[in-house]
Amino acid sequence: MEVGMWGTRGSVSVSSPDKVRYGGNTTCIEVSSDCIPKGHGLAVDCGTGLIPYTDSLLGRKIWNLDVLMTHPHHDHTMGLPLAGHPFIDAARINVWGTNEHGIGPKEVMGYLFKPPFFPVHFASLRHRFFTHNLGVIGTQVLVIHPVGGYQLHQADVFKRAEATGQQLPFKSNKRFPIGECLVVWMYRTLHPEYTVSYRFEERTTGRIFVFLTDHERTAGFPADLVRHVHGAHLFVQDGQYSKITYETRTAGFGHATPEYCVELANLSEVEVLGLTHHDPRAKDTMVDERLAEAKAHAEKIGCSPKFVEAIFACADYQRLVV
Ligand SMILES: [Zn+2]
Ligand SMILES: [Zn+2]
Repeated sequence: MEVGMWGTRGSVSVSSPDKVRYGGNTTCIEVSSDCIPKGHGLAVDCGTGLIPYTDSLLGRKIWNLDVLMTHPHHDHTMGLPLAGHPFIDAARINVWGTNEHGIGPKEVMGYLFKPPFFPVHFASLRHRFFTHNLGVIGTQVLVIHPVGGYQLHQADVFKRAEATGQQLPFKSNKRFPIGECLVVWMYRTLHPEYTVSYRFEERTTGRIFVFLTDHERTAGFPADLVRHVHGAHLFVQDGQYSKITYETRTAGFGHATPEYCVELANLSEVEVLGLTHHDPRAKDTMVDERLAEAKAHAEKIGCSPKFVEAIFACADYQRLVV
């Protein structure tokens, strides 16, 4: 499995000479795996990082794009109207997301492509879009197979099939072994909207990637959250605010601190931790400070030197082998 960081900035995209090393695109994370059907791209979120990602897909003649939305805040959606796929006849875009107060992925697309905010109305593009409501987060699992495609299953049905070694049904009544799949678990984060964290388990290799953004620092560590993150080979989390900023100004904004990221990663026995959702006002040197804060805290609480060394701050266009 490989993870491409196409957008790692939080809140709003930025461009400035002192924000070059980490970049200014908002959240868009590519997940690539042999378990995903050939000719399909998979992104978590469609912030402005989606624009270079879809350029890269189209350069390789990949017309199918799946987007797993964490939530509909602007910084996680604004890349889609300027991305390549919505305007190409051969393209097919599947958007997966939560539905809150009657607003699901279909309605979000309707808001994004709507005059006078954007000159093209969604009605003229709708035939290229397929939207999917994820339902109650925590009750379902999304299973991806190279031939079977994408299929949502009830978590209890999945667990029963896994325990008994049964194959899972996909569309067109075909069945495939779980061991050939990319299994995507979901967890509801603590944020002002109904927000999802995704855990990707590549069952062919046993490798695990967890992406947790727009999640507030909580008091304590809920057992189901630790379970969701547990054993990740790569864990990327929102560490937007320094401890002092959080405690004096930004508590309740729905974001975490480097210190909290380290503690959650440590409790969850994560191998590599990446900080993301960098503050739009943070210069490169300030992101360096968040990273130093994370490493200092990891040392203070007795994490292994190997883990301390492995903590990093995510940067646009970075690629990581999980
Ligand atoms: Zn955000
Ligand atoms: Zn948000």
